[in-house]
Formats: sequence, structure tokens, C-alpha cells
Amino acid sequence: MPIADKIVKMVEGMSMVKQMFEAGARLKAEHGPENVFDFSLGNPDVPPPLQFKKVLKQLVEDEKLSHGYTPNPGYPQVRQAVAEYLSKEHDIKFTADMIVMTVGASGALNDALKSLINPGEEILIPAPYFVGYEHYAFIADAAIKTAATDARFHLDVSAIEQAISEKTRVMLINSPNNPTGAVYAAQELAELGHVLDQASKKFAKRIYLVADEPYRKITYDVDVPSIFQAYPHTIAVSSYSKELSLAGERIGYLAVHPQAQDAQLVAGAAAVVNTMLCVNAPSLLQLAVSRLQGVSVDVSIYRRRRDMLCRGLAEVGYEFNVPEGAFYLFPKSPISDDVKFVNILKEELILAAPGIAFGGAGHFRLSYAVPESTISGSMKGFKRALEKV
Ligand code: PLP
Repeated sequence: MPIADKIVKMVEGMSMVKQMFEAGARLKAEHGPENVFDFSLGNPDVPPPLQFKKVLKQLVEDEKLSHGYTPNPGYPQVRQAVAEYLSKEHDIKFTADMIVMTVGASGALNDALKSLINPGEEILIPAPYFVGYEHYAFIADAAIKTAATDARFHLDVSAIEQAISEKTRVMLINSPNNPTGAVYAAQELAELGHVLDQASKKFAKRIYLVADEPYRKITYDVDVPSIFQAYPHTIAVSSYSKELSLAGERIGYLAVHPQAQDAQLVAGAAAVVNTMLCVNAPSLLQLAVSRLQGVSVDVSIYRRRRDMLCRGLAEVGYEFNVPEGAFYLFPKSPISDDVKFVNILKEELILAAPGIAFGGAGHFRLSYAVPESTISGSMKGFKRALEKV
């Protein structure tokens, strides 16, 4: 085999995703893209806020704009701007040295996990979970262990407590959640913080909480509580992919709680890993987002789509938890084999992702980062698919 043994499995996994894309593209070519209802991708289609273009124009017209390397953890003034914004948002004093500018939340997750985890140690994740976590765990040479969530896909803190072992180095949570749309409440986060602290004492080893929050600004009638208030040994990772609809521009950050155990060491290590993996985050985008702190996309667009999709599917007879945030719906599959049901949806020209891919068998994921016409046009197909089973 010309490629590394451990890469073979990853390539096989990615080729399944590729096949899914290709099957979708074939259907669109055969039936016309307007007749295929593609809910399979979490690629934000809502336009970035108008301020983004203004800021970009100002930057490119500036004679002094540099296109050289930036300091590896990011421009000092950009890290300072993020630190100031987070200080206000979380009521905790962040300094610029606790921030690393990264290539999206993915880059931040790689930096955080690779900095913290020794080979053989585990990342504990509530299931269902974002598929990308398997890639970041692979890069960090870590094993994934999952803990079940409750019926609303919220944290089951006693399941987490039971799943923690002497191998656990990181608890990784994602709220608002992809694929379920759950937003964890302050009380459950406080209970989680308590359990992590007790377990760290029991195993004489600090368990860090990595909070993946790229959907933080996309919520419906609920607040996302400050994760830093729930547990000090926390690294939040985030990006502007969803909150500014800049997914392709690849810009994000990580923030280490200033009172985390060995905070300076952890932030320093994350900066070094960032250097090794990507040298520095895109310089133009660093400058742009530093001027857009607190700005976000028009969430009412996602809310309208969520309401439309939930209303339509409930009328047809699907069961689901109404998403509290992000732009995903995770309905129950009407048959236990979710892969089979996703194929039945495909016969109706509806593209969805099977829950099993997210550690959530018996469900399927719909992304509503799609136009309203996709939602309204798909309802007859959803009805027929249900009738077929
Ligand atoms: N975490 C979650 C839960 C996601 O859904 C995604 C992307 O879809 C990422 C991280 C990666 O985001 P980014 O584009 O900022 O790298």
C-alpha cells in the first residue's frame, strides 16, 4: 500500500462521503437542481452581514495592508479585540495571550486536542456528535468514548460521570449542537463542571473541557450560558463560519479560561501546535473579524426555515425535538434502519444524512441551511416516504 495504513481507513470513510455527494450531484443533473431537495450539507447560505464587505473594502484599500505571515497565534491587536469581546460576553477578564487565531473552529479543535492529549488518552463526547470529531481525534492520536444524552439530546450528567475513567483527558461538548439543535442549559453545565472537577480529583489528573461553540449566535428563544462560568478549566473553540457566514474563509479562534490549570502553558502549547499545523490563520480575515466583534448574520432567516420545516414535518407525522439553536433538525427515523430510510428519502429526491454517521442511529439529520423553496417543495416527498414504510 503506497499510503500509510492508518490513513487507509480515513480515506475509505471520506470516499463514502464523496459517494454521497456524487449521488446527489447525479440526481441534480438528472432531475434538475430545483427538483432535488438537498438537506445534507451544513454549508451556510445566508449572506454575511453587510458590514463584512465594507470592512473588507476598507482593508484592501489601505496602502499599508500587509500580506506577509502574521505572528503565529495571530496579530496582537486582533487577539486583543477578541479578548475584549469575550471579557464582556463572559464577565471574565481575558487577555490577548489566552487567545489563538485559527483556521476555523476545526483548526482550533486540532490545536486544543493535540496540545492536551497523550497517545491512548480519551476524549469523552456526548452522542450524537459532529462527525468531524473523529478526524480531530485521529490527528490527536486520541480515542473517542461516548456518553449517551437524554431524550431531548441534553446532557445526561450521570452517564458522563460513569463514562469518565483514568484515561479521560478531555470532555468535548458542542452547544448549540450539530446534529441535534440542543442548547445546554446553565444548570446542566454547572452539574457537568462539578462532575469534571470531582473526577479530576479522583484520578489526580486535570480533565479539560473543550467547548465547541461555532453556532453560539444562532439560537431561538434561549440563551447560550457562559461555559467559562460553569468550569474554569475550559477552552472554548469557535469561528466566524456560521455567525458571519464565512465558512469558506476559514477563520476562527480558541480561548483559554485565564484561571484554567496551567492556562499559560496550555495557551502557549496551542499556539505552537497552530504554528505546526497551519503557520497562522488567514491574515486578511483576522483583520476583518477583529472589526466585526459582536456582529452576526440575520438569525430570523434560520428561524423562519426552522419553523417551516418543523410545522411541515409535524403535520406529515414525523417525530423530533424542536431545535433550540444551530440549523439542524434530527428527527426520529420511522424505521430503525436510518440508512435504509435515508435511501427511501433519496427515492423521493430528498437528500439527508443518516443518524448513525453521528453516533445517533435511528435518526436522520436535515440541515436547514437551504432556501425556503427547498423546504416547501420537499413536503410531499417526506409524506410519501413515511407512507412507504
Ligand atoms: N464544530 C461543529 C459542531 C461543526 O458543525 C463544524 C462545521 O460544520 C465545525 C466544528 C467546524 O467549523 P469551521 O468551519 O469553523 O472549521
